[in-house]
Amino acid sequence: MTSSPDVIVIGAGVLGLSTAAELAGRGHAVTVVDPGGANASSIAAGMLAPALEALLDDVDPERAALLKRARDLWPAFAESHGLTLHREGAEWRGPDAPAAVARLKALGFEAKAGKDALITPDDWRIEPATALAGLGRTPGVAVAKGRVARLSGDARRWRVETGDGRSWFAPTVVLATGAAAAIAGLPGRVAALVDAIEPIRGQLTHVAMDPPARTVRAPGLYIAPMAGGAVVGATMEPGRRDLEPDLEEARSRVEAGLALLQASAEPGLTRVGVRGASPDGLPLAGPSGEPGLHLALAPRRNGWLLGPLVAAVVADGIEGAAPVPDAAALDPLRFG
Ligand SMILES: Cc1cc2nc3c(=O)[nH]c(=O)nc-3n(C[C@H](O)[C@H](O)[C@H](O)COP(=O)(O)OP(=O)(O)OC[C@H]3O[C@@H](n4cnc5c(N)ncnc54)[C@H](O)[C@@H]3O)c2cc1C
Repeated sequence: MTSSPDVIVIGAGVLGLSTAAELAGRGHAVTVVDPGGANASSIAAGMLAPALEALLDDVDPERAALLKRARDLWPAFAESHGLTLHREGAEWRGPDAPAAVARLKALGFEAKAGKDALITPDDWRIEPATALAGLGRTPGVAVAKGRVARLSGDARRWRVETGDGRSWFAPTVVLATGAAAAIAGLPGRVAALVDAIEPIRGQLTHVAMDPPARTVRAPGLYIAPMAGGAVVGATMEPGRRDLEPDLEEARSRVEAGLALLQASAEPGLTRVGVRGASPDGLPLAGPSGEPGLHLALAPRRNGWLLGPLVAAVVADGIEGAAPVPDAAALDPLRFG
């Protein structure tokens, strides 16, 4: 089968589909190729959490401001693509809430302390599965089922081939393959960038319960509202790509989460995903240095938060538009 979109996006996670939707919104015909099934994006908690991520990762003010600017792209992005944002804020239950409030305020976030807790209105949420489905339905985006086995190209166009012999051709390709290994045929320096992405396995467990009013986070744990209840997560297991759930770990994390909420319920399905991370924890987004080949990879823990920013940066790179100021921090070639 052969078809000729303007852009082929390889990978239908949040970065691939956000980029595809952004490009389609700008008038490009986009084909997304992905084998289907669960990925890190579909199993994620969907927190859009610049404040508590900045607090937990103890980031500098520059990084905190970038995370907040990324979140600020969400309302317009969600509206363009018919996605629902949940803006109920988030709660942190940890030691020394007043100090945490002071730290958040110093980083430019709003927060107020309660007893052994703080609440910030700056962290929002989205339902991942619904949002992915919505992005995939964007007019101008076609999603084709298949695993890309080889990429080849000349000065004019790229050829994208699946293992079962189908091919697509386009002048522009976006690689959005998450934490997966480099695809055969990738130019050497791009393959090296992909090979340097660190996989970080994570698992969370669905619990059928009355969801908390907002996401509750505590040291090593969160409980986030999710369709049908809540999810309790999540592990951070660097270097691991295996997808078998660790049910003992899940049970003890759920117990801790329910104890925090003083609730009771039985653990439901535990799901595992693998995040890809660059050395500085920010995505690789933009031109790869190879003509017509662009990257949307490695957002670590914040793929949902950073989706619209990555999409805008990659689309600008493809169109040769003036880059937004945050593009430099995501430049795939910044480590070389
Ligand atoms: C347990 C857990 C909880 C999380 N919670 C949050 C959260 O609350 N908020 C947040 O912002 N982030 C969260 N994250 C992180 C977030 O999920 C990731 O950063 C993000 O999903 C990565 O998106 P991606 O598009 O890069 O990769 P993925 O979602 O992994 O998508 C990559 C896609 O590429 C496809 N692919 C790979 N190779 C090929 C190939 N050869 N051909 C075709 N397709 C291919 C895969 O099948 C996959 O569909 C969480 C992650 C985990 C694991």
